[in-house]
Amino acid sequence: MATPKPSAGSVVVAIIAAAGSGTRVGGGVPKQFLKVGGRTILELTLGRLERHPEVDALVAVVPPRRLRAAKLMMRRHPRLVAVVAGGARRQDSVERGLRAAPGGERAIVLVHDAARPLVAPELVSSIIRAARRRGAAVPGIAPADTVKSVDGGGRVTGTLDRARLRMVQTPQGFRASWLRRAFRRAAVEGTAATDDASLVEAAGMPVVVVDGDPLNFKITTRADLLRLRALMRRG
Ligand code: C5P
Repeated sequence: MATPKPSAGSVVVAIIAAAGSGTRVGGGVPKQFLKVGGRTILELTLGRLERHPEVDALVAVVPPRRLRAAKLMMRRHPRLVAVVAGGARRQDSVERGLRAAPGGERAIVLVHDAARPLVAPELVSSIIRAARRRGAAVPGIAPADTVKSVDGGGRVTGTLDRARLRMVQTPQGFRASWLRRAFRRAAVEGTAATDDASLVEAAGMPVVVVDGDPLNFKITTRADLLRLRALMRRG
């Protein structure tokens, strides 16, 4: 595979995690393969990142049984350099995408959920900038509600200081060398995490939070899908 030409400094590669099997939103079809305005949510997400002037290459990670069909997307998306089969956990899927990512250890790797199709170019730029400067960066939003911890029976065990909390989104950006080191260590130690930055933190590397975007919500429920459709109709 030819290494893409970097737009500025090191190559920027985006891994799109699209191998989930979550069908809660759309009757049997994983949510990222539902169509909105004639295109799948995965293709909307892919298009947004592909149009970003600083993103040099994309890797998509899809469910194994959709691999052959998904590879056809490479004809329509010239910057999509690899489509690979994902694993059981999101973490396994990202690890497989990372193995297929071009650009070497100096690249900046963005990891993005296919289920967040409204990612704004400004957010992508600010994550790339922060990852280049600081090594690892994630978008985060302060919770608007008070957050409590509870025990297994639903009894409140504490109230958290929301000024110090952030709800974290994707794209998460990393120096490739940091992310690869974090995945190697997670494999050795058996660490499991729901986002990529957690593995980088667990490996002892610092992660910074930049301002996230409420419109960059993850399609999780039927209401999210209806909201996406309404926003897309409005343009
Ligand atoms: O399930 P959840 O919405 O948290 O998944 C976030 C993203 O990770 C989705 O875009 C989903 O397709 C992806 N994923 C994956 N491989 C898995 C599980 C989730 O690529 N095994």
